[in-house]
Amino acid sequence: MFSYRHAFHAGNHADVLKHTTLIATLRHLMLKDGALVMIDTHAGAGLYRLDGDYAETSGEANEGVVRLLAAFSKQKVAKPITERSSDATNDVAPALQDYLDLIKAFNADGGARIYPGSPFVMHHLLRSDARDRLKLFELHPTDAKTLDANTAQLEAGRQITVTRQDGFEGLKALLPPPPAANGSRRALVLIDPSYELKSDYSRVTECIEDSLKRFPTGSYLIWYPVIPRPEAHDLPRRLKNLAKRAGRPWLHTTLAIGQSPDRGPQERPGLTASGMFIINPPHTLKASLQACLPQILAALGRGRGQGHTIESGGPG
Ligand code: SAM
Repeated sequence: MFSYRHAFHAGNHADVLKHTTLIATLRHLMLKDGALVMIDTHAGAGLYRLDGDYAETSGEANEGVVRLLAAFSKQKVAKPITERSSDATNDVAPALQDYLDLIKAFNADGGARIYPGSPFVMHHLLRSDARDRLKLFELHPTDAKTLDANTAQLEAGRQITVTRQDGFEGLKALLPPPPAANGSRRALVLIDPSYELKSDYSRVTECIEDSLKRFPTGSYLIWYPVIPRPEAHDLPRRLKNLAKRAGRPWLHTTLAIGQSPDRGPQERPGLTASGMFIINPPHTLKASLQACLPQILAALGRGRGQGHTIESGGPG
């Protein structure tokens, strides 16, 4: 426990998938006036330096957000000739552009030195008139302290709370969220464990089962690693069953960057794929991901095994 530090992984391909999906979902939710409670059960440190020791040691951001920014710096994506048609446009997909713009907002000098973690992604989209709330949980003593210090700089007062508590437990007290002025109750929950413990997989499903009873209409976003482990393999199937049983729509997407052909036989590939499972996704999310995932893959794909999937289903 506590050996996982997100600073090693910030801005990698998994963060690209997770944060692009998060931003696209939040953009849709922000179209409605009603107050939104955003809950991040596994928040991390909030902000990361891509030129610091952690990121430079792992080099993961270089194969993720840094490569993506370089590929799209001219704001146009060059499609392979075979995919071009006379009326095809080469424009960057809106959800990808939105992600890139948000990263650029944290790097005013045009570089890629700072990476915003999910708390800062959410804060960036939160409406500053105090309507929305951001509730952050982080258990690691050092990361919780850093998160506290990072969010304090935002001077957001009661709009943001940071709690050093188990996020699965902390979530229970926050659902259902309080009604907004117009009576509506709205919440987005990001569940993004490190899966350092095998029990994280079953805790995710228990948490979703419980949350759907407390607040069936919430937007739940769950990240998971695609790795050869039975618990990881079973997780999306279990989540699908829970969504179906609760009569809620769902969307499941994966992004695999594949393995580099230059990799030596002794080199470990590291994480090459991950997934997002969304319960009660915006009706626009599937099309948004369909447009942007091929573009992300064109920039980050490394060869053998690369690809993406998107499936969705309704109640019943
Ligand atoms: N959501 C962050 C982002 O996208 O920027 C990254 C989070 S990282 C994958 C997972 C975090 O969860 C780690 O910082 C870890 O210390 C923390 N953690 C692990 N178990 C936890 C628990 N039960 N409750 C709250 N935080 C936990």
